[in-house]
Amino acid sequence: MPRTIFREEHEIFRDSLRAFIEKEIKPHVDEWEEARNVPREIWKKLGAQGFLGFWLEEKYGGYNADFLYSVVFVETLGESGSTGLTMNIGVHNDIAVPYIHMLGNEEQKMKWLPGCCSGDIICALGITEPGAGSDVAAIRSTGRRDGDCYVINGQKTFITNGYNCDIVVLAVKTDTKAVPPHTGVSLIVVEKGTPGFEKGRKLEKMGCHASDTAELNFEDCRVPAANLLGGEGMGFVPIMRNFQQERLISAIGSMKSCDLMLDMTIEYAKTREAFGKPIIKFQHNLFKVVEMKTEIEMARSFTYNLIEDYVNGEDITLKVSMAKWFNAELANRVAYHCVQLHGGYGYMMEYGICRAYTDVRMGNIAAGTTEVLKNYIGKMMGL
Ligand SMILES: Cc1cc2nc3c(=O)[nH]c(=O)nc-3n(C[C@H](O)[C@H](O)[C@H](O)COP(=O)(O)OP(=O)(O)OC[C@H]3O[C@@H](n4cnc5c(N)ncnc54)[C@H](O)[C@@H]3O)c2cc1C
Repeated sequence: MPRTIFREEHEIFRDSLRAFIEKEIKPHVDEWEEARNVPREIWKKLGAQGFLGFWLEEKYGGYNADFLYSVVFVETLGESGSTGLTMNIGVHNDIAVPYIHMLGNEEQKMKWLPGCCSGDIICALGITEPGAGSDVAAIRSTGRRDGDCYVINGQKTFITNGYNCDIVVLAVKTDTKAVPPHTGVSLIVVEKGTPGFEKGRKLEKMGCHASDTAELNFEDCRVPAANLLGGEGMGFVPIMRNFQQERLISAIGSMKSCDLMLDMTIEYAKTREAFGKPIIKFQHNLFKVVEMKTEIEMARSFTYNLIEDYVNGEDITLKVSMAKWFNAELANRVAYHCVQLHGGYGYMMEYGICRAYTDVRMGNIAAGTTEVLKNYIGKMMGL
């Protein structure tokens, strides 16, 4: 396993997170899946141990951790077996909170970031709408300036942490007539409890059950103009820029899922017997495992090189799009073959591989579908 990019302090961080996972997460994974939720206490415990917003400056509650800590975090949390929790925390830590850090003024940062680090504030990112997902510029939610407020109207859907969030970084159109349309997109922080902001249905998903995914509704919701992040019309470019990190995190998560699925399948195939021998001894099955292992290691090399490039400040736009779609599709292929190798048990929810099969299905949809990324790559290739 290539670990050359990590230093000793990253491995210490990994070990302490592993100990936390053993004690505080693994015993509750099934319970949280059934409850379709993770309790708020786990956020507080993660915060108290320094596992939230650790990359932020100390004045905001973090400890200036470099991006490799985020990589270790995603990889290690992925080992917990709770993809739902991994998703909730991943969206908070690496996707939603960065907008406040990147675009917020000092007052906004001091208001929200310390709570994001302690676990007192759960953060969501609201971009997708019932009528606009891949095409971000087509969102229809509006934020109309009225005195010292924005009046927000619209609906969001598929929002991770939507049900439990305390704040949502919301994409709205502050200029519905802007040409081109994406120049009218702004980001505004909306706090829970603001009149006109209603959390809608908690959505029942195929997998990642412990993750809360919800609809959010806004009706004449008056939000202080001071909650605007950056300037009016300055939302779209940061969304596109943030996609780089989001997609890198997603590619790492898919890779980790591949490891877990293959490990549990190898263990199973070594002990499950048919026709008088372990099923791994049938050449077809052995070759299948070897093929998967080979593809995963190839993907890992590419992904780790990419992490290095990202840490070194290089432009990874093209390659991260490749890694994101490739790893997500690979995870789905691995899931398919691993279920097959488990036979009937692979179809039973009590087996980890069954849960993993449904969990990985979102990997090639959220954070840029495979098709949208291929379009993007084609464009960057000049095609
Ligand atoms: C579990 C989960 C969690 C999520 N969490 C969040 C969140 O926290 N915040 C948030 O804002 N959103 C979130 N999303 C939404 C996610 O980002 C969108 O689902 C995704 O961007 C796709 O948008 P869509 O669902 O509207 O699909 P559509 O854009 O309608 O696409 C439908 C199909 O058409 C294809 N397609 C679209 N455009 C093209 C094209 N140009 N060429 C070829 N094919 C195309 C797509 O690839 C897809 O196969 C989440 C989604 C899921 C499933």
